[in-house]
Amino acid sequence: MEPAQKIGPILKLLETHYPQVHVTLDFTNPLELLVATILSAQCTDERVNKVTPALFKKYPAAAHYAQAPLPELEQAIYQTGFYHNKAKSLKALGQALAEKFGGQVPASLEELVKLPGIGRKTANVVLGNAFGIPGLMVDTHCGRVSQRLGLTIAKDPVKIEFDLMTLVPQERWTRFSLQLIWHGRAICTARNPQCPGCPLLSYCDYGQQAMGQ
Ligand code: SF4
Repeated sequence: MEPAQKIGPILKLLETHYPQVHVTLDFTNPLELLVATILSAQCTDERVNKVTPALFKKYPAAAHYAQAPLPELEQAIYQTGFYHNKAKSLKALGQALAEKFGGQVPASLEELVKLPGIGRKTANVVLGNAFGIPGLMVDTHCGRVSQRLGLTIAKDPVKIEFDLMTLVPQERWTRFSLQLIWHGRAICTARNPQCPGCPLLSYCDYGQQAMGQ
């Protein structure tokens, strides 16, 4: 079945099976979500959520990250791994926000991706979940499930994002990508996808092939 034919049923099934999706990083404002998303690279959201309450209390504004000595920032985030690079990213981010955006996180993709270390995936996480502006978050799960379903043949996350943008109604971008992320974590895992019990099996190229259908 062509992607344009099956996207409708797939969207309906995702709504049925994943009605309560949300980003699993804890945050109360766009800056906190931006910082948490940076810390979530190569780290679980659960671990990030253990570190961020104290971090957000100590550094409530972009200027605080900009002014913080690197060793102090590293100490505050070391449990999330890769803390040398992440501390540098947070400081550079704080400086850019303070200098160019008056300390506020901008609410547009074009401006977000100009911030140091911020790619389209992170920008879309912040847009979709902190600003309520539709954003397609193509992380490893969303990319893998999209490919297996046959919605894209692209490998590059940005190309996958653009393929999905043409298929999925804009108002569903955030929920759709969150639903694929949740599905990728729970059922369509990288090494052992649970195709026999998967609600999307009827519309999935990979699953149909794996099941010999
Ligand atoms: Fe993933 Fe298998 Fe479901 Fe397809 S049928 S989405 S490969 S778990």
